[in-house]
Amino acid sequence: MVDDERLLEEAERRWTALAAGRPELREAIALQRRLVERGLALAAAIADLQLPALAGAAGKLQDKRPVLSGADIILDGAPFKPFVAAFCDDLAHGGAGQPAARLRGALERGEIDIGSLLTASLRRLQTAIRMKANQVGVSPDVLWLVAELGAAPLAHRLQRAHLGDAPARDADLRAALDAWDEGRCPACGSWPALAEELADVRHLRCSFCGAAWQPAVRRCIYCSGSGDAFLVAAPSPTDEPSRRVELCRACGGYLKNLCAAAPTPFALLPVVDLESSDLDAAAVERGYIRFSMREVDAA
Ligand SMILES: [Zn+2]
Ligand SMILES: [Zn+2]
Repeated sequence: MVDDERLLEEAERRWTALAAGRPELREAIALQRRLVERGLALAAAIADLQLPALAGAAGKLQDKRPVLSGADIILDGAPFKPFVAAFCDDLAHGGAGQPAARLRGALERGEIDIGSLLTASLRRLQTAIRMKANQVGVSPDVLWLVAELGAAPLAHRLQRAHLGDAPARDADLRAALDAWDEGRCPACGSWPALAEELADVRHLRCSFCGAAWQPAVRRCIYCSGSGDAFLVAAPSPTDEPSRRVELCRACGGYLKNLCAAAPTPFALLPVVDLESSDLDAAAVERGYIRFSMREVDAA
């Protein structure tokens, strides 16, 4: 896994620089290091897993539905189980304490079926996951997060298979993807974690599945507002123009906008997100928010 080693070296370089500049992030960095390493190990463990077939990707995109929405995926949770349990431990040691330990217990007792949980996460069914958490008596936020960590490597593979590789063989899919002008991810429907400017082209990036997409017009990703209420600003006059925030006064949402020399690899997206957390703080201070999921998938 030479690629993974290279990714971890790059992550380590960034974490070291970040910890030096912002010592208050040391604990967050330590937790992220464990989660990124474990995510890569999980991706390696499921590398040979047969991907579920997803029918009608081009048609879904034409209907403005993400490719994974409504997908009838049946997943064997067994290969994921030790990783999901370990993510609970990572979170328990990284500040989530008792709620993460309680979730681990519920998973071990089989009170939550891991295959169904991960399928619900792939389809971004937040309400269903929260209901399950309430039923079993575990924290909905921790269950959502653990499911996301467990499902993300598979989401990435599905995204690459269907939106990365398939359009080269499928002209309809290519056209549908080129026409995708939505703020949310064409693969999974999540809001992007950030936008990357590569040679003046804005690429929205999904941190759950790694997708990159380019709406034709720069406007608010959440409400499509593009008038005076939408602006792109550096958080303070002294900041570099390569680090900006898109702010929308119409809906109150914001999105980080970072210049990059090359697309950030999937595994490093959380690192870039943490690196730019000062921009989140600046936007939140001005009263803007980063919306969580907008549920699009009917169960
Ligand atoms: Zn996505
Ligand atoms: Zn808006």
